[in-house]
Amino acid sequence: MDSEIVLSADRIVARYGSIEALHGVSLTVKKGQIVALLGANGAGKSTTLRTLSGLLTASSGTVRFLGEDITRVPAHRLPHSGLVHVPEGRRIFGGMTVKENLDLGSFTLANDVERRRRMDHVFEIFPILARRQNGDASNLSGGEQQMLAIGRALMASPKVLLLDEPSMGLAPQLIKEVMNIVQRLNREGVTILLVEQNSKVALKFADYGYVLEAGRIVLEGPGSVLANDDAVIGAYLGNAA
Ligand code: ATP
Repeated sequence: MDSEIVLSADRIVARYGSIEALHGVSLTVKKGQIVALLGANGAGKSTTLRTLSGLLTASSGTVRFLGEDITRVPAHRLPHSGLVHVPEGRRIFGGMTVKENLDLGSFTLANDVERRRRMDHVFEIFPILARRQNGDASNLSGGEQQMLAIGRALMASPKVLLLDEPSMGLAPQLIKEVMNIVQRLNREGVTILLVEQNSKVALKFADYGYVLEAGRIVLEGPGSVLANDDAVIGAYLGNAA
């Protein structure tokens, strides 16, 4: 059971107009893992997540989720099946309360009781969101907005969470807090694909890692091996903080 593949990309090519950003990326994520996708600025990490979650359609190659070919399934249908993307930059909605932002994450649910149960779970994980639930989301700090973005994703009860740079712009103490939450979610059964520029942070938690460079996977291996690999540390990655 441990080695069950829940999400995979097989030689995906992705383009923005005439620019080819991914040149045949393959990766697998197994049930229960935290997998890190690392690489410098512009390497193609966000593009890979967008292609996995259907925001971009691969021009060739295949994306599979829970054994099904989802390469051409539109993004809005995937949260129903348990694949949820937390994009870079948080994308919370100002002018709406924290609670309303969370409600947007449960558009897959018709059932109010279940929605309430999930919101209580989110509030238990992020007590600050419970305290600020009726306040405008744009008044939250950067760290709180990141928590709201993750909380909103949890409202869809993800099986697999695609997290795009949750540490971006956060102070070290907050990065630690967010990563502890990522670890807790993983222990509660959520499989995680984590994009990070900060390889030190990501590899501390990752079971397995991939390194992207200019739209290609150039290295992969268990997190503990990559963490001690000078090539990873020196050649490919930024290691701020
Ligand atoms: P970052 O950490 O800076 O977000 P990244 O590894 O996530 O970097 P991507 O954002 O996936 O990299 O970008 C991969 C390549 O695709 C880059 O060359 C980038 O300039 C290009 N790219 C990304 N988004 C677009 C877009 N909307 N239109 C055109 N080119 C894009």
